[in-house]
Amino acid sequence: KLNSSNSNASNNVKVTIRARPPNAIELSRGENEIWNVDHDQHKVSLDLDFIEKSRRQPTEYNFDAVFSGSDNKLLFEKGVKDTVSSVMEGYNGTVFAYGQTSSGKTFTGTKKQPGVIPQAVDAVFQYIKMCKEKQFLLRVSYLEIYNETVRDLLSPETEDLRIHEDKHRGVYVSPLKEVLVSTPDQVMREIIRGEANRHMSATDWNERSSRSHTIFQMTVESASKGSLPSKPKRYSSTPKTSGIVYSSVLNLIDLAGSEKAASSADRRKEGAYINKSLLTLATVISKLTEKNIGYIPYRDSKLTRILQNSLSGNAKVAVICTISPSVINLEESNNTLKFAARVK
Ligand code: ADP
Ligand code: MG
Repeated sequence: KLNSSNSNASNNVKVTIRARPPNAIELSRGENEIWNVDHDQHKVSLDLDFIEKSRRQPTEYNFDAVFSGSDNKLLFEKGVKDTVSSVMEGYNGTVFAYGQTSSGKTFTGTKKQPGVIPQAVDAVFQYIKMCKEKQFLLRVSYLEIYNETVRDLLSPETEDLRIHEDKHRGVYVSPLKEVLVSTPDQVMREIIRGEANRHMSATDWNERSSRSHTIFQMTVESASKGSLPSKPKRYSSTPKTSGIVYSSVLNLIDLAGSEKAASSADRRKEGAYINKSLLTLATVISKLTEKNIGYIPYRDSKLTRILQNSLSGNAKVAVICTISPSVINLEESNNTLKFAARVK
C-alpha cells in the first residue's frame, strides 16, 4: 500500500505473480499470451496487441515480483525465501499458492522441478546447519479442509478434528498427528504420505484436489544449545520466547482452485465454501497491511481460523498467485490479479 504509514506491516505480506507458459492445447490453438510480464517493473498488464484486437481497456497491476516461465528456483528466491528465514528466526510464516485450477499452483510444489515446498524444506535444514549456536526441534502435520470439514492427512482414520483455542497455544487443531522430523527426506516422506491419503479418499483425485485446501505445517522450536527440552512444547505463537525457547510455524498452503463453481448442485455447495474461504482469506490478509486493523473475521472460514496465529501480529505471508496465459481464462486471471492486488 503506497500511503500506508505502517510500512512494517505491509512488508509482512509479499505478493508474487507467475504466468505459466502456454500448454500444448493453447499452442495448438495458435493463441498468443495475453499477459505481459514485466520483470523489471514488477508489472503485469494486458498485452497491447490483445487490447487492440479485443478493444479492451488497458489493465495493469503492480506487485513485489512477477514471473513468467518455469523457474521455480527464482520464484523461491524472490517470493518465498524471506518468509522461511523469518520462521527460523521465530516469526510465524505462511506461503499460499492462489489461482484457478491448472494455472500452476501445484507446479510450484512438485518433485520434478523442485518446487517451493522442497526448496522451503531444504532452506530450513540449511539454516539449521549454518546456525551452530542453536539447536532445533521440528515437527510436521498435514491437514485438508474439504467442504469446511478438517481431515488429518497423516492419520486419515482420525475423526472429529476440532479447532481449539487457548491462551498459550493460540488456535490449533486437535487431535492432529504431529511427526518429529530431523532430515529433509523425512519431511518429504510425510508430504508424499499425506498426498497419498488425499488421493485414496477421493473418487476423483484431481477433482477433489482442486476443491480442497491443504495446510502443511512445520513447527520450529529453537533454543541455545543444551537448553531445549527433549520433549516438544505443545504450543506455538508469534515470536514468543518461553524462557529461551523460540517457537514458530511455517505453513505451506495449497488452496482450492479460485475459479467460479461449475453448475451441478454438489459443486455449488463446494463452490460456495471455497468462495467464502478465499474471500475471507483476502479480507484477513489485507487487514494485516492496514494500520487501523479493526475486526478481523478469522472465524468466517476454517482456513483462516486454523491459520489465525499465522495471519496476525508479526506473521510473514507470501502469496504466490498463478495465472494462465490464455484468452479463455482472461476473466479468472483478472480475478486472481484482483485478489493479489487486494492482499498487497
Ligand atoms: P494447479 O495446481 O493450479 O491446478 P498445475 O500446477 O497442476 O495447476 O498446472 C497445470 C499444468 O500446467 C501441469 O501439467 C503443470 O506441469 C503445467 N504448468 C503449470 N505451471 C507451469 C510452469 N510455470 N511452467 C511449466 N509448466 C507449468
Ligand atoms: Mg494443484
